[in-house]
Amino acid sequence: MPAPGELTFTAPRRAGATRPPRHLADLAPSERRAAVADLGHPAFRANQLSTHYFARLVDDPDQMTDVPAAVRAELAAQFLPRLATPVREITCDDGTTRKTVWRLFDGALVESVLMRYFGAVSGHAELGDEADDAPAATTRGRDRITVCVSSQAGCGMNCPFCATGQAGLTRNLSTGEIVEQIVAAARLVAGGEVPGGAGRVSNVVFMGMGEPLANYNAVIGAVRRLTDPSPHGLGISQRGITVSTVGLVPAIDKLATEGLNVTLAVSLHAPDDELRDTLVPINTRWKVAEVLDAAARYVAATKRRVSIEYALIRDINDQAWRADLLGQLLRATLGHLAHVNLIPLNPTPGSKWTASRAKDEKEFVRRLENQGVPVTVRDTRGREIDGACGQLAASIR
Ligand code: SF4
Repeated sequence: MPAPGELTFTAPRRAGATRPPRHLADLAPSERRAAVADLGHPAFRANQLSTHYFARLVDDPDQMTDVPAAVRAELAAQFLPRLATPVREITCDDGTTRKTVWRLFDGALVESVLMRYFGAVSGHAELGDEADDAPAATTRGRDRITVCVSSQAGCGMNCPFCATGQAGLTRNLSTGEIVEQIVAAARLVAGGEVPGGAGRVSNVVFMGMGEPLANYNAVIGAVRRLTDPSPHGLGISQRGITVSTVGLVPAIDKLATEGLNVTLAVSLHAPDDELRDTLVPINTRWKVAEVLDAAARYVAATKRRVSIEYALIRDINDQAWRADLLGQLLRATLGHLAHVNLIPLNPTPGSKWTASRAKDEKEFVRRLENQGVPVTVRDTRGREIDGACGQLAASIR
């Protein structure tokens, strides 16, 4: 367990630890062709494998009937190894929310959550709403299938209100391990196993375990695999991807240069450095003003609205004056290209932190809206299944 406020950027070395097996999803299309050729197979086999994995969502060699039977097993073993095994699945919301705990090749546990939303939404934000440039508090009619994924096993950012942060960082996930969480969800949806009929994953939010920008290369690789057109990738719109961060300023600036039209979500949780130094310990490295300036540079580069995530914690960060200060800061740095997602805190077992009173939450919203800042209160899907990040995995350790 990390000491209070201690930050971990590099996972501690573990005796005998090895890297996850190489997977097709770790490789860009040209790298796949080269890797297949290196094994003495025609390069076009890489396209066949890509079609099976990304377009048909198949990794069973017996189903790859266009590949000669003699080489199917070898190619599957080389490029489609099993990276994650489900060890617990819990559903709620009439089956439209499904949380999975995965055991990775080395025993590390991570979580992903699949959420299906139907039709009109009003007032409450869904995970993935940040990707939508329409005013978030209006009522719209649409279906949305969002997957919330983990990018690290554990997390080194040590936010004191978060179960994952309290357990520390185990290791970074590989690109393949991240992509597998979405492909598994896509299979369920395509197979009609989620109420509402067969469909496609429309949104991916990097808001599960881990700080995505602390595992930068693997996360960017995953974003490219998710958004590359089928069959090279899953063909999800870049606008449907949200990458969250607690505020790693150099990585935000790097993300702005990737040419990716993804939404940036900044987990701010406090508008003043004094409180944020405690609530989000990375603030001791990069202050609120530096983080918002980096977000403004991201907006300038991408023209995408930034989502400001703010977990409302009773009597800690939910005072009216903090709402006023937050609104002023956002108007000054991001203009109309900021949107605040208020997240009613889902307390971790035994924690002293708890959700705000309804009247305080309402007043916080009112004060932000008075300053012209779009604000929504996040739909807290999965609350009854240990919905805060890391809670379910923590419960089966
Ligand atoms: S809130 Fe996010 S960044 Fe902070 S410790 Fe938890 S997983 Fe890490």
